[in-house]
Amino acid sequence: MLIGEPMPSQYDWRFQIFGFPIRVTWLFWIIAAALGYNQAMSLDENYQRLAPAVEGVSSPGFPILLCVWVAATLLSILVHELGHALAFRYFGIQSEIVLYHMGGLAIPTAGYLYQRGGFRRRLTDGNQIIISAAGPLLQLASGIVVGVGALLAGIYTGEIGSWLKWFSADASWFAGAQIPENAFTYALINFYVLISLWWPLFNLLPVYPLDGGHIVQHTIAIVRRTDGLYEANLIGAVVGFGVAWWFFRSGMTINALLFVSLAMSNVQAMQQQGPRIW
Ligand SMILES: [Zn+2]
Repeated sequence: MLIGEPMPSQYDWRFQIFGFPIRVTWLFWIIAAALGYNQAMSLDENYQRLAPAVEGVSSPGFPILLCVWVAATLLSILVHELGHALAFRYFGIQSEIVLYHMGGLAIPTAGYLYQRGGFRRRLTDGNQIIISAAGPLLQLASGIVVGVGALLAGIYTGEIGSWLKWFSADASWFAGAQIPENAFTYALINFYVLISLWWPLFNLLPVYPLDGGHIVQHTIAIVRRTDGLYEANLIGAVVGFGVAWWFFRSGMTINALLFVSLAMSNVQAMQQQGPRIW
């Protein structure tokens, strides 16, 4: 969830799932492709290098693998936003989903009470925490289901497998899982799992206005009986700069710049609100 709804345009792709209107802006495709460029390229290179030496190993080529990445991104972020939208619906509020260059948004459009009696339903802080958590948790769960399902089916595609080995010494139940001979199968599973594990984890970081920042804000609101915004922005600024520094050191400059801009917007919001007594 991020600031501001992008303007509708004639290049938007529109459809519905479970009665939720969904809009995909043209810039979503470009950013998704840019983010997956290196992944698709290195996967293709690895398979191309092995292909002459190992029988059966093949790759459909970089453009196809990049398309798989973009499709996996679309599906994974859609699952994330459906988590928010279903939680909104649970509390009687309709919403629409927009996928754009910053990821996804679930935007409340109207409450059922609003439609009938002219009153907007007011969400409690507890409701807001559930709505904010529902997106990343559903997405994370979907990634785990796909990753573990693949392992059970005997397909090893990194990520989930290496995480499970880290968590538990007993990895014998998927010891026989094989890396697929075709890069297409590998990409299909690996890209979906990769996005569905990392995207929600970064979204849960306590940096406003990521989901984690909203959860912090409403938790503070419950404890301190304020709106929690100043405190959430302060935490967001500190954590945001910290995460940016970590990304810079890891050589992931685009991610670093994203978190610098998030941290800056937290600082700006704090300046506008002015400090309160703690
Ligand atoms: Zn979210």
